Amino acid sequence: MSAYQAEQVYLNYINGEWAGASTGKQVASINPANPKEVVGYVQASSREDLDRAVAAAKSASRSWRKLSGAARGDVLFKAANALEKRADEVAETMTREMGKTFPEAKGETLRGVAILRYYAGEGMRRIGDVIPSTDSEALMFTTRVPLGVVGVISPWNFPVAIPIWKMAPALIYGNTVVLKPAQEVAVTAAKVVECFAEAGIPAGVLNLICGSGSIIGQGLAEHPDVNGITFTGSNQVGKQVGQAALARGAKYQLEMGGKNPVIVAADADLDLAVDGTISGGLKSTGQKCTATSRVIVMSEVYDAFKAKLLAKVSEISVGDGMESGIWMGPCANEKQLETVLDYIQKGKDEGAKLLIGGGKAAAADATGGFFVQPTVFDEVSPQMAIAREEIFGPVMALIRAHSMEEAIELANDSEFGLSASVYTSSIGSVLSFIQDMDAGLVRINAETAGVELQAPFGGMKQSSSHSREQGQAAIEFFTSIKTVFVKA
Ligand code: NAD
Repeated sequence: MSAYQAEQVYLNYINGEWAGASTGKQVASINPANPKEVVGYVQASSREDLDRAVAAAKSASRSWRKLSGAARGDVLFKAANALEKRADEVAETMTREMGKTFPEAKGETLRGVAILRYYAGEGMRRIGDVIPSTDSEALMFTTRVPLGVVGVISPWNFPVAIPIWKMAPALIYGNTVVLKPAQEVAVTAAKVVECFAEAGIPAGVLNLICGSGSIIGQGLAEHPDVNGITFTGSNQVGKQVGQAALARGAKYQLEMGGKNPVIVAADADLDLAVDGTISGGLKSTGQKCTATSRVIVMSEVYDAFKAKLLAKVSEISVGDGMESGIWMGPCANEKQLETVLDYIQKGKDEGAKLLIGGGKAAAADATGGFFVQPTVFDEVSPQMAIAREEIFGPVMALIRAHSMEEAIELANDSEFGLSASVYTSSIGSVLSFIQDMDAGLVRINAETAGVELQAPFGGMKQSSSHSREQGQAAIEFFTSIKTVFVKA
């Protein structure tokens, strides 16, 4: 039993104080496995509340940037310890708020802890270079300075890891932060911020403001005192955020959608490929930007792969992610369930053959939860909507290919380029795939996914704005380079 309690009220965190929205309004965050259960009430904030949060971050910026990296790192270490202590409670909150199974939620929470510890150490790392001057009496070097106030806009699918992998580098490099989480997971976000408060983060350095995307998210992107915006979410909203930031000369970073392919070669280990396809495509109910959604299989092994995949998918248990033995939870919200069901209908209408799934899962009957069956379409043609558009649900399209060259061409036939995998035992196929696949995360004999936290994360084409998150790559977005010339 964790310390999770339903139906509590969660406040904004502005200038070191917990405060209700000036609107006096709150919204209920509900459990997608059982929509009658209220996980908590979160604030429906106004632009005035946002102004106060940004003003607090701006005034805290001067002293926070003056602290040593080690002192800032100390705060991150303490926040990591606080989160680790509350990992069961935070993970249970996440499962109840957005549906992923408890083991996945716990894994994500512990990843948040590891990210905080990693960036705490980054506070001690070299941040510049000495560059030889042609003037023998001069010293020339680079250093890095924070942007100032950074706005973090995060989605609902990784409620702990995504905000942390943005906030931790922002903070360690000396920025102050205004976090606007997706409203569907604002209770989980509040608990993460509580860990920073417990760690003694100075007033104003980290602020939490909950509210709608169109009021608070857009307000943050347009705010003249926000110097950088880091966004993860849909392409449609990402483009708006990027344009708003660009219009006022602020720095922006966008992580958006994917339509991630896996290629199964004729010489692949089929059992490994089936396990990787299922895990990559259906974990988190397919609601990952890196989720496998196109499965491109070589003709020679198409039927054998399909039979193995079908057998394993038919064993998947769907239900409330807090129950043991459940492998796949619900869609995170009703809108997402409807989107998934619409795409399944489109697949049928466009003539794809339904291999398995194709509707609401039985678990929905008992609670009205947003459960959908894991779904696989067979003999999908590359022009169909289910092969082109991001579904963000547990739906995969099997596509037939006749050569590795054709398979890579099919895999590249997408406006997205986030994660891509190949299963093969041929070094030649591995090398072609690494060289020719247009994706930011290219994986061999491993499922489509993100990467370890110390490595750069991001995509090509419409998947991201190209500046990378995670690891040391994050310094590029969260700082500016200052070149210094000193003459004796
Ligand atoms: P979303 O774009 O609807 O919302 C993301 C965030 O933006 C939320 O906090 C939301 O409140 C806010 N927002 C909404 N309207 C806004 C506006 N007009 N201005 C500013 N902010 C606004 O996305 P979502 O439904 O929460 O998440 C699903 C999407 O996120 C999928 O497309 C998925 O691929 C993407 N995603 C990408 C990655 C990645 O790293 N590439 C990771 C996770 C999710």
